[in-house]
Formats: sequence, structure tokens, C-alpha cells
Amino acid sequence: MKPAAFDYVVPRTVSEAVDALGDGERRAQVLAGGQSLLLEMHLERIRPDLVVDINRIPELDDMRVVDNTLQVGALIRHQAFESARAVPGPLGSLFSLAVVNIAHPPIRSRGTMVGSFGWGHPASEWCAIAMALDADIRLRGPEGARTVAARDYFHGPLKTARQPRELITSVRYPLLGDDVGVGFIEHRRTHFCFAQVASSAALTVRDGVIVEARIGLVNCADRPLRAHAAEQALAGVEVGPPMDGYLLPEEHPFARAGRIAAEHDAAPIAEPYADLEYRRHAIAVVLARTLCQAANDHRSRVGELKGDSQ
Ligand SMILES: Cc1cc2nc3c(=O)[nH]c(=O)nc-3n(C[C@H](O)[C@H](O)[C@H](O)COP(=O)(O)OP(=O)(O)OC[C@H]3O[C@@H](n4cnc5c(N)ncnc54)[C@H](O)[C@@H]3O)c2cc1C
Repeated sequence: MKPAAFDYVVPRTVSEAVDALGDGERRAQVLAGGQSLLLEMHLERIRPDLVVDINRIPELDDMRVVDNTLQVGALIRHQAFESARAVPGPLGSLFSLAVVNIAHPPIRSRGTMVGSFGWGHPASEWCAIAMALDADIRLRGPEGARTVAARDYFHGPLKTARQPRELITSVRYPLLGDDVGVGFIEHRRTHFCFAQVASSAALTVRDGVIVEARIGLVNCADRPLRAHAAEQALAGVEVGPPMDGYLLPEEHPFARAGRIAAEHDAAPIAEPYADLEYRRHAIAVVLARTLCQAANDHRSRVGELKGDSQ
């Protein structure tokens, strides 16, 4: 199918883009990487009157560390995060574990991290990580700039706090300290499908004890989630010796946290090939393995630091 006819503008500054979006007469869509928008336009599920192509706005092609946060501009592509060194500390490792799950290289070379927040899909890896880490989303509209916390941003499937006349300029994540171990594991039907279930974990461990857990759940409800109940169950837990997430005994605290997330945090939706029982089981198993990965990551990170100082 070919998309219906539309007007097309290519602003050179954020102000010009906001002016174009604020026209009010026409239903406008922002074109970033186009990896979701163009498909929807070809299927005529989205029929904009105006497409505002932001790809020629240099100020959006910017990623920087500001006050211990990472600020990712609206033109930074998924592939920028494939190397763990692209971002300082454990946050870089977490992003690099997550990004390889997004589609395949050609899509990652065009699609943008910020575009995922424009789209607001419950299966977005970036959006679940943003929930877990308390990231915030920075918007600019005709009334000026505003910042929305991730916890207030997602309202349902493809529904967000963004107003149609607002441009997302960046997303800002707190950097993670060296006492944080990270994990990200995804389960899906085929390599190029969206996640059936995925989870992210960032465990702050001191003297072998978890002092803070931050857990994000991907495609476990109608929106990206943070798993508060599972996080609480992990506070004060000893991480213990290295372990294989595939061989975790049922009574292990990580296995228990997985079950708590499945029962109390997630609100999964049945699909033709995955009923509710299957989905809850998958959430419990995937999260337990992710927590093992994060604990093992912490151990090797601490080991590396000790090695460096000798
Ligand atoms: C086969 C396939 C598999 C995929 N698998 C995954 C996956 O596993 N996980 C995943 O997360 N994604 C997946 N995607 C989607 C892909 O990651 C997209 O790149 C992403 O969802 C949107 O980024 P984009 O830059 O391409 O945005 P676009 O397609 O350009 O825009 C998407 C929507 O967001 C809005 N938007 C974009 N940028 C802004 C902005 N700065 N301000 C305001 N609104 C904006 C647009 O108006 C549009 O409504 C997949 C896509 C395909 C085709």
C-alpha cells in the first residue's frame, strides 16, 4: 500500500519544528527514524496531513553527560548504544545488553531511542528501562519546554503524556554507580519479533547485600512497567555466590522476586500464542534470570575494580 498524500517540511531548528507542529490546522507527525511511523503510514493506520522531518536539526543529534545524568537527544539512533563504552559506567552495559534485542541492524541504524518514547509501545526496551531508572522526558511545545517523569509519561498502549503539538527533545537517565550490577534478558518468538516478555535490572550491592533494586518490565502490561513489589522483596537480600540463572532453585530470592513480579507487578494481556498462565510463567523465569545476570555483573565489576587498583 502507498501512504495517503501529506505535506512534508524539513525544519532546521527545534523552534521551526515546534512552529510546524503547532500549525493546529493539520494533523502532524514527527518523522525521526521512520521505523514505526512509515510502516503505519503505508498500512494507512496513521494518515497525517503533515510530516515534520526532524533529521536536519543538528541540536537534536547530541548525547552528553550533564550533572551525573545522560541526556540523549532526539536524533541519537539505537545503534549508538551497541558498544557498552558509548555511555559511562553500568548504564552503558545495560543499554548495550538491551539494544541488541531491538529488531535488526538496519532498523537500529535508523530508528532512534527518543522515537520509542514518541511511539510509546508497551514492548519498548528503552521505555521500560526509563521507568526503572526514573528517567525523564523533555518536551518542547508552543507553550515552552517541560519535563515529564517516566512514571507519569506512559498512559496505555501508544498513549503518552506528549501533546500532539509537542516535540520530545531528549530523554535523561541518571548514570549508575560502580556498585551497580545490571542485567537485561528478553524472550520472544523469533529474533525479529517484539519481546513477548523482557526485564531489566539494576542492583546496587554493598558488602554483598542488595541495598536497592530497580526493575523494568517490557510487554508485561498495556504500558512499560516498573516492578515495585519485586524490588521491595529484594531489599536486604544477600547476593551469595555466582549462579547460573537456568539452574536457580525455586526457593532462591531471585526466583521468588520473579514470581512476585508476575503476580503483583505485571498485568499481562493474553495473546493467541501466549495465554495468561504462560505469560506469567515467562515473566517469573525471565526476571529471575535477569537478576542473576545483574548479580554476576556486579561481582565481575567489583573484581575488575579491585584488579585495577592492585
Ligand atoms: C520489524 C521491526 C521490529 C521492531 N522491533 C522493535 C523492538 O523489538 N523494540 C522496539 O522498541 N522497537 C522496535 N521496533 C520499532 C523501532 O525501534 C523504532 O525505531 C522506534 O519505535 C521508533 O523510533 P523511530 O525513530 O523510528 O520513530 P518514527 O518511526 O520516526 O516515529 C514513531 C512515532 O514517534 C513519534 N516521534 C518520533 N520522534 C519524536 C520526537 N522527537 N518527538 C515527538 N514525537 C516523536 C512520531 O511522530 C511517530 O508517531 C521495530 C520496528 C520494526 C519495523
